[in-house]
Amino acid sequence: MATQLFQKIQQLKHQRNAVILAHNYQPGEIQDLADFCGDSLELSRKAAQTSAEIIVFCGVQFMAETAAILSPEKTVLLPDKFAGCPLADMITAEQLRQLKHQNPDALVVCYVNSSAEVKAESDYCCTSANAVEVVNSLPANRPIIFIPDQHLGRFVIERTGRNLILWPGYCPTHVVITIEDIKKVKEKYHDAIVMAHPECTEPVKELADQILSTGQMLKFVRTSSVKKFIVATEIGIIHTLKKQNPQTEFIAASDRAICPNMKKITLDKIISSLEDMQYKVTVPEEIRMKAKKALDRMVEILPEK
Ligand code: SF4
Repeated sequence: MATQLFQKIQQLKHQRNAVILAHNYQPGEIQDLADFCGDSLELSRKAAQTSAEIIVFCGVQFMAETAAILSPEKTVLLPDKFAGCPLADMITAEQLRQLKHQNPDALVVCYVNSSAEVKAESDYCCTSANAVEVVNSLPANRPIIFIPDQHLGRFVIERTGRNLILWPGYCPTHVVITIEDIKKVKEKYHDAIVMAHPECTEPVKELADQILSTGQMLKFVRTSSVKKFIVATEIGIIHTLKKQNPQTEFIAASDRAICPNMKKITLDKIISSLEDMQYKVTVPEEIRMKAKKALDRMVEILPEK
C-alpha cells in the first residue's frame, strides 16, 4: 500500500515540478520519501535553492512560512493546514510590541520557531544551533529580548553570560522529558552518551553530556567513535540517526517526546496536497520583507558553512 502511495507521489511530484522537504521530526516514511530532510532552516535554504516551482513542506506552519519568506516566487504547500507549532503560538506580534515598549533600548532576537508577524517585529532571527553565536555578536551595552522559548533562552544565558529578557514560552514536546526519564535510561545504558536539545528543561540539560540542536546531533554522532546514544528530543530524529549510523544504538530518553503536529502529515495528505495544490502558505509582502531582514541579519552574522 505504502509503495503505491510512494509511486503516486513520485508521479504527481514530477507532473507538478515539485520538491518534497521533510523535517527531522517527521514520521519515518515521510523522511524516506522526501527529497531533502533537515532542520527548519536547512530546509528553508533548500527551498530557496531548488529549481522546483512547488515546495511541499512536511513540517509545521512556521517552517513553511519561513520557506515562503525566503522564496516568495515559489508555491509553498503545507499538506495539513492544522500542523502548527504551540511554541511559536505562545507569543503574538502584539505581545512582542508590548514587550518592546517596556524595554525600548532592547534588541529582539527571535527563535525561528515563531510566526512571520513575530519575526517581522524582531531584529534578529536565530536557530537552536546558532542562538549563542547570534547573541554573542550583539553589542554588550544593549539589553536583549529573547523569544519565545525560555529553555533555549536559559541555555543562551548560561553560554554567553548575557542577561536576556525571556518570554515564558516552551515546547510541549520537549518539556515532557523528565530527569527521571534520563536517570532510568542511563541506569540501563550507563555507557551511552546523553544528547539533549536546548528546548529541554534545565534539570534535563544538566544531566546531558551534550546539548545540541538536531543538526548538531546528526553531525556529532557521525564524527563520534561512541556507539550508544540516549536521545532527548522529538523521537522522529532517531529514524535519521539510525539510517545514517546503522551500527550505532539509539535510545529515546522518553517515548512520550512525540510532537503531534509533526505527525499530522501523512502520505495521503501529501497526495491531496499535490493534486489540489493545498494548503498554500503565503506571507503578506510588508510582513515578509521585515521578517526577511531578521533572517538575513542572522545569515550575515553566520554565513552558511
Ligand atoms: S517539537 Fe516543539 S517546537 Fe518543534 S514543532 Fe513540535 S511543538 Fe513546535
